[in-house]
Amino acid sequence: MKRSRLVAGNWKMHGSRASIAALLDALVKENPGSGCVVCAPFPYLAQVAERLRGGAIAWGAQNVSEHAQGAYTGEVSAAMLAEFGCRYVIVGHSERRQLYRETDEQAAAKFAAVRAAGMTPILCVGETLEERDAGRTEAVVARQLGAVKFENAVLAYEPVWAIGTGRNATPEQAQAVHAFLRKRVPAETPILYGGSVKPQNAAAIFAMPDVDGGLIGGASLVAKDFLDIVRAART
Ligand code: PEP
Repeated sequence: MKRSRLVAGNWKMHGSRASIAALLDALVKENPGSGCVVCAPFPYLAQVAERLRGGAIAWGAQNVSEHAQGAYTGEVSAAMLAEFGCRYVIVGHSERRQLYRETDEQAAAKFAAVRAAGMTPILCVGETLEERDAGRTEAVVARQLGAVKFENAVLAYEPVWAIGTGRNATPEQAQAVHAFLRKRVPAETPILYGGSVKPQNAAAIFAMPDVDGGLIGGASLVAKDFLDIVRAART
């Protein structure tokens, strides 16, 4: 089966009603077609759903609770997201793992909750610079992936040292880890690269045989940059 190309934008904790309306207008106007996802902060999901209704651009959330329901103040369940028509949920982003101490076990529980609600998890794995320098990249990503019962999902390789730093992995570095991950997931799984992808470097990274697209942070907030990256994934 041919693997689909996918570019997902992770807006992180950025935006306002006005800026998101303008960004969505610009994306919809260009009509980038399928294979394009935007992951918005929770309060804006309804606005995003409304604006993208009936179009080809899909949308997702950046996090989810591992619990189904109950006394978990501040949390949002997978069922709540699914009720709004959410299709994708980012799970195990390194900012969640590092800043909020999310464990492999929590990521696995969140992944399972997303699947159980009929949505597609975008599971993030990636090593720190210290782990890379110690030659532990493969061990780290294998451990993060191995914690999850991985199926019907998207995998994103995001080296922590490349996220938001302006220092992307070289295409060869990305390819090496993607090839390693490829052997550990179902054949149809799209494996995205994330970490300082910009219009200037996207084509070279996406040209690697095991890179199926990207998870884009900063550049996804600028319509033209995001659309250029989506186009780069097509060619
Ligand atoms: C991310 O947040 O997943 C990411 C890859 O960020 P950036 O593109 O800004 O490095």
